[in-house]
Amino acid sequence: SAFPGDNSGDLSPRQTPGVLYSKAIPTKVSDPKLLAFTEELAAEMGMDSPGAEDLKILAGNKVTETMQPYAACYAGHQFGNWAGQLGDGRAITLGEWEHNGGSWEMQLKGAGPTAYSRMADGRAVLRSSVREYLMSEAMFHLGVPTTRALSLVTTGDKILRDMFYNGNAAYEPGAIVMRVSESFLRFGNFEILAARKEKENLQHLVDWTIEKHFPHHKGENRIINWFREVIDKTAALMVEWHRVGFVHGVMNTDNMSILGQTIDYGPFSFLDDYDPSFTPNTTDLPGRRYAFGNQPSIALWNLSRLATALTPLFKDTELLEEALNSYEDNFWNRYYEMMGNKLGLDKITAEDKKMISQLEELLAKVKPDMTILYRLLIDLPSISAEGDMLFIYLKPAFYTEPSGELKVEFLKLIISYAERRKKNSISTEASAEIMKKTNPRFILRNYLLHQAIEELEMGERSLFDKLRAALKQPYTEDDEDLLKKRPDWATQKPGCSMLSCSS
Ligand code: AMP
Ligand code: MG
Ligand code: MG
Repeated sequence: SAFPGDNSGDLSPRQTPGVLYSKAIPTKVSDPKLLAFTEELAAEMGMDSPGAEDLKILAGNKVTETMQPYAACYAGHQFGNWAGQLGDGRAITLGEWEHNGGSWEMQLKGAGPTAYSRMADGRAVLRSSVREYLMSEAMFHLGVPTTRALSLVTTGDKILRDMFYNGNAAYEPGAIVMRVSESFLRFGNFEILAARKEKENLQHLVDWTIEKHFPHHKGENRIINWFREVIDKTAALMVEWHRVGFVHGVMNTDNMSILGQTIDYGPFSFLDDYDPSFTPNTTDLPGRRYAFGNQPSIALWNLSRLATALTPLFKDTELLEEALNSYEDNFWNRYYEMMGNKLGLDKITAEDKKMISQLEELLAKVKPDMTILYRLLIDLPSISAEGDMLFIYLKPAFYTEPSGELKVEFLKLIISYAERRKKNSISTEASAEIMKKTNPRFILRNYLLHQAIEELEMGERSLFDKLRAALKQPYTEDDEDLLKKRPDWATQKPGCSMLSCSS
């Protein structure tokens, strides 16, 4: 491929026109310790458990002769505004690993400054590294496309951060995640080349991306067909986020994977109570651009920025516009299919679509715990609708019990849904099976992460290990302690519900 790069090894922050990457050198840390290693991922990659020498690599303390560490140059639209050059400010790719026909880009996150670190230190704190390590693995086991995490290492060094949004600077323990993916390419990698009018580099990157990651697209229409596939994968990802109640929190174009994976775990959250206007990112207030319910339309906005970046490669932009126009139908088709599975329906009729819209509207008003509610719906057909039986059955999902008109409306809809389930052409058991595979029992709630991190910072790892085990079986986990709805104390506590980008 031989892309133009800046191979000077200069780590001072700067603009790097004309190149796609800059050589990076991980900065040594004082006392690396392995906190977690993902054995089953390593096995898939054909790797052994790390020994003492390997630990040095996972901590950025050793670079072997075959590695050519680099930081990628990319740009992005942040919160809707063009932000210019960003780049890997605290991620360093060590190289690529191949095994059994698979290939993985191996990237250290938090291994020190690169040419793209701007004013920051290139480091990551323990709390954000734990969040990325656990959550990317949790998403993988939920079946949601994502980058993965191979290891989590504490560095023994302290780093300075503004803890959350109360403005107090504090020293915190540092950590490094080795994350892996077939590719970490973002929309922003294409945007920067278009913005800089580097058409040759843009063509080169697009050709290479297609050849390497989308080799089934060939011939003269390959670029538009590839772009259509990016649209398709992005729509699919939005539907998957909706299925499990995931809010990314920072859907800037530099955080959009060209492979349609969940990437760059920052101030994310699962929904506890069902609230489409919920954003976990304190920086996203008051606009709530990246709120749960906005994610599908923001994805389209981001795809439009990618389309704009690709226009220099097209004679006329009609094809790109047509492709963008396909997003909405694509999304809704996938959405209704997914909702049909969440609700255990054999098919989706026009009536069903109406019911689903009503359900979404009512859930947004009642705000029950999303995860608990959908699991309760599985056995609904066997619950009597007489008296208050149904209401009592659903009670475990409520943070605030609906009353008056809202309660009546809500129960009415639930009863008509139960009636609909009975009209299924598939058996009650088959319907329940679909629901059990679609609706997780265990989600990695922010308050659980928060507790695990607090304990880790005091040297206690039992909850961390419990979560590591639970996230591997999200559809069957039965430890009641981990399945509870968010406790009251966590609602207002910083870091338990909302987070800042400071990580
Ligand atoms: P994010 O919002 O985390 O996706 O990051 C946006 C940009 O800021 C990217 O270019 C990151 O590489 C950069 N960045 C974030 N945190 C740091 C840090 N601690 N040191 C250097 N660069 C950073
Ligand atoms: Mg990012
Ligand atoms: Mg980040």
